[in-house]
Amino acid sequence: MCYCTSSRTVGRSFPRVDGYKYCPFCQTKLILLESGQKPRQTCPGCGFTQYKNPSPVISVIIADKDRILLGKRIGSPGAGKWAIPSGYIEYEDDFISTAILEAKEETGLEIEITSILNVISSFVSPSFHFLAIYLEARVLGGKLIARDDLEDAKWFSVSGPLPEMAFQEDVDALEMYAKKEVTGLPVDQRYARQVNKNRESW
Ligand SMILES: [Zn+2]
Repeated sequence: MCYCTSSRTVGRSFPRVDGYKYCPFCQTKLILLESGQKPRQTCPGCGFTQYKNPSPVISVIIADKDRILLGKRIGSPGAGKWAIPSGYIEYEDDFISTAILEAKEETGLEIEITSILNVISSFVSPSFHFLAIYLEARVLGGKLIARDDLEDAKWFSVSGPLPEMAFQEDVDALEMYAKKEVTGLPVDQRYARQVNKNRESW
């Protein structure tokens, strides 16, 4: 659950959107058909249609006074460069809980999401199109340690200089954040399933 192919998949390419040639349900060869004014891979056997959608990810600006936390990435894209901690949202998770779990997994820190800062369509490559939700968080506890998909994690001054960054989107988001050009929106914690364990959505 990270904003990359993991260390286990370095060097291999996993197309996220155009991978199916045969129906995943009935194994019939897919054909291109018009659907919603776009050609889409469609199954003539059972009617399955393969839609191409961007992948929602969360990016968490963990702030402590005038410092922000960055991680040095192990996996691609952006291996060996620095980025805002981020991760894919698993189907059974909400974005708030994902951010909290991702921060814990990658940095060892317990955080609280304080606001929604920005949403960016991130066209990294034809195989990687993310809808990145930028959140602001503060540290509640834990001990900083880089792990999971990070080889290092450090605090940097929000006003820079920044280390070599993996994604221009992160640079732009931090620039806006440093200049206080964005005002965060409140987060509705009622929809955080891990935080609010009594809430059942299905
Ligand atoms: Zn089928």
